Amino acid sequence: MPAALPTFAISPASESELSPWVPANRPPVADVHTHIFCWGENPAEGYLSHKTRRAWLTRLVMWLTRLPHERGETISEKMRNRLLRHVVSSQLDYAVVLAQDAVYRSDGSRDDGGTHFYVSNDYVLQLARDCPRILPGCSINPWRRDAIAELERCRSAGARLVKIHTAIQGVDPALPAFEPFYRRARELGVVLMFHTGYEHSCTVVSQQFTDPRRLARPLDQGVPVIAAHCGTCAFWDPDNYYPHFVEMMHRYDNLYGDTSVMASLIRWHSLRRLSGETPALRSRILHGSDYPFPPARLPYLARIGAFPPERHNPLDLDLRIKRSFEFGPQYDCGLLSLLGLSVVRD
Ligand SMILES: [Zn+2]
Repeated sequence: MPAALPTFAISPASESELSPWVPANRPPVADVHTHIFCWGENPAEGYLSHKTRRAWLTRLVMWLTRLPHERGETISEKMRNRLLRHVVSSQLDYAVVLAQDAVYRSDGSRDDGGTHFYVSNDYVLQLARDCPRILPGCSINPWRRDAIAELERCRSAGARLVKIHTAIQGVDPALPAFEPFYRRARELGVVLMFHTGYEHSCTVVSQQFTDPRRLARPLDQGVPVIAAHCGTCAFWDPDNYYPHFVEMMHRYDNLYGDTSVMASLIRWHSLRRLSGETPALRSRILHGSDYPFPPARLPYLARIGAFPPERHNPLDLDLRIKRSFEFGPQYDCGLLSLLGLSVVRD
């Protein structure tokens, strides 16, 4: 672990300047898409529904990531300790850790029974206060009555990125009713991340909401938008939204894509395809892992070898795999400028 880390990422001198531990001879490396989960010991912080706790994928990820062996009294503590350990010991200078808002009905009321995965904004804001390498990625369902007030609250607490999970949170980004929310995000300098492509890890409201073509509404309001997963789907899904992502990237300069979950077995060809796009498109691709979902090594053996030194940390292994593709010089360091952040150098 690095010897002396400052206690806050955001410097007191200016909230757009980050503390200076990044060496001057290289730009800061960032991961725009990681997750923390809460088991539900304190549901106000976050929880997984009984259905999600019992799901085979949840069990598999917990086993693959050796969660039971992690330090901590409760499952949530183990998850938190593992995330902190991996982030601090990785090659990353910064990782955005994402919250996950609840499902809301179209009348603005919260649907707890329909919410299977929840992480509060305060939980990730506190994580960012506890670990200077963590940048808070809040999550706001624009259906909620206080969506704009929560956006303003999160922005003043230091969040510059807000995620909307189209499929799990039941949000069709194309609805005109969300325009004021999108405009306020632009005014506040908040980047919006939308889940795109079919979702497989949790119960969904609608997969059709994950079509990147539906992002025209926020993009037309001028807010920078990150299409998480670049619209990619699994090979068995009935739709493939990747061509729609490419089409939208050519139409909108304020659209970005992240590579989260693209090193998984079910999307094993997606990185190669993305790295073959035009330089203009690739210049807006950002590094994201989807931690703690581990990357697959098998499809990339020829690129990284059978026993890469990075294999002991899933964040490093994911970065190594993706750096073996040609995404351009901004790929793993372009995030901070998109978020309006800069690193203070001594
Ligand atoms: Zn994700």
